[in-house]
Amino acid sequence: MRVSVFGLGYVGCVSAACLASMGHDVIGVDVNQVKVDLVNDGRAPVVEERIGELIAEVVRTGTLRATTDVREAIMDSEVSLVCVGTPSEPNGSLCTTYLERVTQEIGAALAERGGRHTVVFRSTMLPGTCLNLLVPILEKYVGGTAGVDVGVAVNPEFLREGTSVKDFFDPPKTVVGELDAASGDAVLALYEGLPGEVFRVPIPTAEAIKYADNAFHGLKIGFANEMGAVCQALGVDSHQVMDVFLADRKLNISPAYLRPGFAFGGSCLPKDLRSLVHAARRADVSVPILSHVLPSNADHLQRAVEMVERTGKRRAGIFGLSFKPGTDDLRESPLVELAERLFGKGYDLRIYDANVSLSRLLGANREYIENRLPHLAQLLADSVEEVLDHAEVCLVGTRDPQVLSKLPRGGDGPVIVDLVHLPDADARRAEPGYMGLAW
Ligand code: NAD
Repeated sequence: MRVSVFGLGYVGCVSAACLASMGHDVIGVDVNQVKVDLVNDGRAPVVEERIGELIAEVVRTGTLRATTDVREAIMDSEVSLVCVGTPSEPNGSLCTTYLERVTQEIGAALAERGGRHTVVFRSTMLPGTCLNLLVPILEKYVGGTAGVDVGVAVNPEFLREGTSVKDFFDPPKTVVGELDAASGDAVLALYEGLPGEVFRVPIPTAEAIKYADNAFHGLKIGFANEMGAVCQALGVDSHQVMDVFLADRKLNISPAYLRPGFAFGGSCLPKDLRSLVHAARRADVSVPILSHVLPSNADHLQRAVEMVERTGKRRAGIFGLSFKPGTDDLRESPLVELAERLFGKGYDLRIYDANVSLSRLLGANREYIENRLPHLAQLLADSVEEVLDHAEVCLVGTRDPQVLSKLPRGGDGPVIVDLVHLPDADARRAEPGYMGLAW
């Protein structure tokens, strides 16, 4: 099929590259010229496993190209996938500005194009956004009826940053919210041959499923970290507790997100929890559990700050800065928050994260780092050794093998504050100079 993908961020560039590798003819659209140029040069605008090779390959074979020109993309495609961002507004509500703008642009181009075209929304949005906000915009611009003159579907994305290419080809499920059967068929034709169960549901159900997923992931992480904190205070190994808890076959609980570790973050879980809770409040629905997931996460981060304070050291190193391993994504990263807290308390910091350095070099994340985190940009080190030479206390927020292989053992070197339960945590626990947040 001929597909246009709007938004070449984490979701859009992975979707575009993977669809192109399946043989679809894909044109990516972004307002950001740097991302468009990177893709056309055969380079990935994000750091993710396998995405660099994949984009190089599909750009070389000609199944993927990128543009800033919406009209060109729409004229050349039968299906549009909308993957623009839906961040939080300052009051926690969902920001739909990018969705509205791109829908207007697509609608205006479709009015010129004629013929059937299906607009598929992959961005995460609250139930009601598509039918009450975006469909009226499309109908106004197209001058017709959605489901008749223009296809509309919602197809939420369940990829996890760090393994997103793998997740695309082996999705946990495929959810299609369809206005009409032809729109749903157009979405499913894109993914023909991929494994996993398909759910064809009403559009608001598809929108809500994504929130159930992300709210539950946040809840599980909060639960595991609170169990970890209580166990630690009571002198119990929480990982052993969780291993046995999860081994109960009759409970059949997925271990995903249930290992005590560091606080969660990223561009999805916090903002999706915030907008879900905001929507509940507006609808006058009391949601005490959902309302406390983010405060629980904030408390966990505070425990890490206090742990560093207890060491009494002032020269600190941080390994890891992105919100999780395998990505360069810094949005709402708990490690960024931790670095900012320590920086604010006057700690002399050095930070090393290989993916963030690489992304800064490529230019993909440079703008974000230099505009949003200029105070941290100056603290970024070029190597693991630079951090180790500087630090009296090292916070380890990554399992990057390059870092782990160089971490000193046996109390030889800086105090290690283990935020992620290192693979050798059990052995380290008996050693001097080791503190674990996630026992
Ligand atoms: P992102 O911020 O990385 O990318 C969004 C891109 O859209 C940016 O490159 C931006 O320049 C571009 N854009 C904005 N307006 C545009 C327009 N009018 N035309 C063309 N491009 C435009 O966002 P993301 O992380 O890829 O997330 C996209 C959506 O997918 C969000 O709703 C998010 O909640 C959801 N989602 C994200 C993930 C994830 O892991 N990142 C997973 C599942 C779902």
